Amino acid sequence: MPELPEVQTTVNQLKIFEKKTLVNIKVYDCKLIAQKKLDTLKDQILLSITRRGKYLHFAFENRSLIIHLRMTGQFLIKQKKEKHDRAMFFFPDQPPLFFKDTRRFGTFLITNHPEEIFQKLGKEPFNLTPEELYHLLSSRKQALKTALLDQTLIAGLGNIYTDEALWKAALHPQRKSSSISFTQAKVLFFAIQEVLQKGLDRGGTSLGEGNANFHAINGQTGKNQNHLWVYGRGKQPCPRCKSPIQKIIFQQRGSHFCPLCQET
Ligand SMILES: [Zn+2]
Repeated sequence: MPELPEVQTTVNQLKIFEKKTLVNIKVYDCKLIAQKKLDTLKDQILLSITRRGKYLHFAFENRSLIIHLRMTGQFLIKQKKEKHDRAMFFFPDQPPLFFKDTRRFGTFLITNHPEEIFQKLGKEPFNLTPEELYHLLSSRKQALKTALLDQTLIAGLGNIYTDEALWKAALHPQRKSSSISFTQAKVLFFAIQEVLQKGLDRGGTSLGEGNANFHAINGQTGKNQNHLWVYGRGKQPCPRCKSPIQKIIFQQRGSHFCPLCQET
């Protein structure tokens, strides 16, 4: 699932469409949104494309299109429609921009009040301070990983970067969130900044071979999957202490950690 680095990579590349007029827009999957609703964006100038949490915000002249990629949503510039393409945007002097989504969980929402969605989200990880992270985590009795994944607390972290940050900070994903000390929160703060920044610098994480995998809008995959410490490395040696990495199912998703050097 795309997290902050993948969504930001997509947003950065989509910026070539800013200040252009959307001359045509088509929906191929009515589960995504009704064509009639999308038509309200036609002939409007796309003023800006930004990210908030894992959402993409397309700001048009008098309304906004808010997109969540969920599991497999991605934008691709290409000449022809293919299987799994759910929508197409057409701007002058550019090849068509397709929204492809194999699993069909991605969402499009048109609204005049984007702030109503965004105000429910927690802090952006890059705008946090160590003190704020400590206070947020101290307020939760649930598992540390659960707190980090809660988008109303911190917006943008998902399964992969959370596992990586917890390994870097040597903290067990299942320890109680409120049990961490300020020093540990500070270490975790810098670990979160590091994993997200590296993910961004490497163009995101693209796991697996399938075409549902994360791709940039030109079809290129990210490179961060080649540098992961624990995620997807079950039974392989921990890069720090050489113990086998453990994989457990936590909140219906694979959680990877080192049972020896991540403190419970
Ligand atoms: Zn270890």
